[in-house]
Amino acid sequence: MKTVRHELVVLGGGPAGYVAAIRAAQLGFDTACIDENAQYGGTCVRVGCIPSKALLESSHLYEEAKQRFGEHGLKIGSLDLDLSAMMNRKTKIVDTLTGGIDMLFKKQKVTPYCGRGKLRDVHSIVVEGDEPVVIEADRILLCTGSVPATLRGVEEDGDRIGNSTTALSFPSVPERLVVIGGGYIGMELGSVWNRLGSEVTVLEAFDRIFPGIDAELANIALRTFKKQGFKFHLKTFVESARVKGDQCVVEVKDGDPITCDRVLLATGRRPATDSIGLEAIGLETDRHGFIPVDANYETSVENVFATGDCIGGAMLAHKAMEEAVVCVERMAGMHTHMNYDVIPAIVYTHPEIASVGKMEDELKEAGIAYNKGVCPFGANGRARTLGEPDGRVKILADAKTDRVLGVHIIGARAGDMIAEAAAAMEFGASSEDIARTCHAHPTLAEAMHEAALAVDKRAIHTA
Ligand code: FAD
Repeated sequence: MKTVRHELVVLGGGPAGYVAAIRAAQLGFDTACIDENAQYGGTCVRVGCIPSKALLESSHLYEEAKQRFGEHGLKIGSLDLDLSAMMNRKTKIVDTLTGGIDMLFKKQKVTPYCGRGKLRDVHSIVVEGDEPVVIEADRILLCTGSVPATLRGVEEDGDRIGNSTTALSFPSVPERLVVIGGGYIGMELGSVWNRLGSEVTVLEAFDRIFPGIDAELANIALRTFKKQGFKFHLKTFVESARVKGDQCVVEVKDGDPITCDRVLLATGRRPATDSIGLEAIGLETDRHGFIPVDANYETSVENVFATGDCIGGAMLAHKAMEEAVVCVERMAGMHTHMNYDVIPAIVYTHPEIASVGKMEDELKEAGIAYNKGVCPFGANGRARTLGEPDGRVKILADAKTDRVLGVHIIGARAGDMIAEAAAAMEFGASSEDIARTCHAHPTLAEAMHEAALAVDKRAIHTA
């Protein structure tokens, strides 16, 4: 088998892997990046963030045209759904972005290898594929990401009963869709199909949806989704799901079986670390399969590093990318750092939900005294012109120092608005800093300004 040499080899070409490879090349490392897929970009670009947002946008426009154009005085004739055109648009976006990574690799001189990689020893990886190769390197960076979790009793056939990848490409709109799991992936993909006409039932084991999101916002979201036609069964444990004839049957503990056309299993993701040869280098995972690392992202094996979903923490693309950059910059001797206290999280449903920093419940539990400022979007001029008066911005600031500890937004374009909060928190801003910053009018961002004023009980438009 052919043997090649590089200074750094990155295993996995998702947000962690491709970003690490590009940054490492910029820093002068002779870098290789291996991915088993012909398209780089990983879960995020191929079957995650990007295709889901493409379908969310298309389905949102469909719903707007059906339900809201009239109030703008816009009359349209008949409105038809061309699902295959919608799917083609999604595919084109994915192709453009993965093609962009190929171009960046060429420009930065990252050498790509296509095939399944497996550690051979602490300084080499064997890549199986059309052209098998052994890659030797001074350093190895593991970015193998994650895969959808399975659930005992749920018999996935990759068609009628499947995971998020399946639900991104249903060939037709299912009449009845059961979503197992009320987290962000289940609610985003459930929203797509709900808007396109499915009757969507969400089964969630907890007593609430979005367990990782501020409880007040999660409750508002739950009420809104119910108005949108979603059905919820909370505190419901799924015992089995299987295809029976031309239907699917989902059995739950202490309840009647539910019959539907398709099932989306969205109960989380697990690290993709079980068949990458960790045993060959004596590297052990934790009991969940995540790879333990130190502050430099180095594993217990010298010169073997890991970042992204495979090391755990928030399983988000931007967290994976940040870690990747910090990891290779530290290899180059730079003193960069990763701030885990300021990682925004967004749910791209309608309304969007966006959070950064501490949740109210966390502050209460930790006994940290805080002041709270809220601005409902109903008081915001731009929200009114957009026809989006529902939702709110909530700022939580330390009662003693006024430092912003958390910002939580539910409403239109919350995902874009949270960037201001993240930047402010990264600079250690107080709510007074935000309140003293002139915000353009009329913008949704003024709701952030108003919430900051409200922390000090001097809001103007919600006085
Ligand atoms: P991955 O993206 O999983 O990439 C790992 C890559 O390594 C994959 O291409 C895999 O095939 C490859 N690989 C693994 N093992 C090997 C091997 N042995 N040999 C060769 N190649 C290998 N995050 C957000 O921040 N925002 C969102 O809006 C968002 N939406 C999402 C929607 C969905 C439906 C899903 C499923 C996920 C979403 N995520 C989102 C999560 C996001 O996709 C992940 O957090 C992110 O992709 C993690 O990046 P990563 O590089 O660590 O791993």
